Amino acid sequence: MAKGIKLFRVLGIRISVDWSWFIIFGIFAWSLAYGYFPFRQPGLGPLTYLTLGLVSALLLFSCVLIHELSHSYTANRLGLDIHEITLFIFGGVAELTKEPEDPIVELKIALAGPAASLVLAVLFWGASRLIPSSSYPLVRAVVSYLALINLVLLIFNMIPGFPLDGGRVFRAIWWARTGDIDMATRIASRIGKGFAVFLIIWGFLNIFTGNFTGGLWSVLIGVFVQQAAESGYQQLLIKRMLEGVKIRDIMSKGVIHVPESKTVAEAVDEYFFKYHFVSFPVTANGRVVGLISLNNVRALDKERWATTSAGEIMHRLASEDALAPENNALDVLTKMSAENGGRFPVVDRGELVGIVTRRDIMKMIEFKSGLGR
Ligand SMILES: [Zn+2]
Repeated sequence: MAKGIKLFRVLGIRISVDWSWFIIFGIFAWSLAYGYFPFRQPGLGPLTYLTLGLVSALLLFSCVLIHELSHSYTANRLGLDIHEITLFIFGGVAELTKEPEDPIVELKIALAGPAASLVLAVLFWGASRLIPSSSYPLVRAVVSYLALINLVLLIFNMIPGFPLDGGRVFRAIWWARTGDIDMATRIASRIGKGFAVFLIIWGFLNIFTGNFTGGLWSVLIGVFVQQAAESGYQQLLIKRMLEGVKIRDIMSKGVIHVPESKTVAEAVDEYFFKYHFVSFPVTANGRVVGLISLNNVRALDKERWATTSAGEIMHRLASEDALAPENNALDVLTKMSAENGGRFPVVDRGELVGIVTRRDIMKMIEFKSGLGR
């Protein structure tokens, strides 16, 4: 998962933004300043439009954030741990560590976001009615825009294709009625993909008939929904297969490790050339202190190999890097995608007991899917 820029904390949840967010924020502010507001409120200066655009885009993203927080807050109250939300191009992605265990929980979490958007839409609509347009035309224009955009967010999110909220609602209802979550997920993601294809075709039709900007948005959102439906479904399958699997079930034991005091030259001859692994845990008195990889070796001048110890060039292992045998297999998968690492030492009370690789996990997934799970 791409690492975002950390912003602040609300309700114990860390809020980050992905780089893509800045691009989309700019496009939004720009199209509001040069498209929407000049059309709604003609005859103002360019600086006024720019301010309106920036303020409205910021408020819009605050509304998206409230929508996402509402999901996460509900999830946390129902016992799922969510510590972080990353805002991406369209909306946000809450880091969900566990899948909901029953359809009612899923339904509540899925509905919490759209419920927040509905409340916001009604509030802004009410406010826009109360603000006299004669004295505060600009405030009223922004508030009416927010009412509209929250309604759009609500409708868009309630489309019944997974992984949109509506898709989760659909899946929860199907799951509750049939007890078959796999089937429910498959159908919901198919609807999601179908909707994506519709958006893309619709977008191109618009582009070819002259509505370039509207069409482009439609295509972009379509591509986004398509990818989210696909990866959301894959992730779900993997999560379901690794449910209840512990690190100890998949790790390889009898790990070859490099003592800290070995020189890099020795490490290359006695370990890298001999065993052909890309990295080895480094130990001092039987305790894991780091990880030495081919990249670490390559980064060091060859003349210094004989005089530098493995401990000097290794990647030091922080306590949160270490996996315990009791950890869930899903944890290592999350770590792997976050750090792009291949091999993770498993440590029990400071002592090296095994190693987990991507292949170990894939083997478990293959094994379980072979059993028809
Ligand atoms: Zn949502």
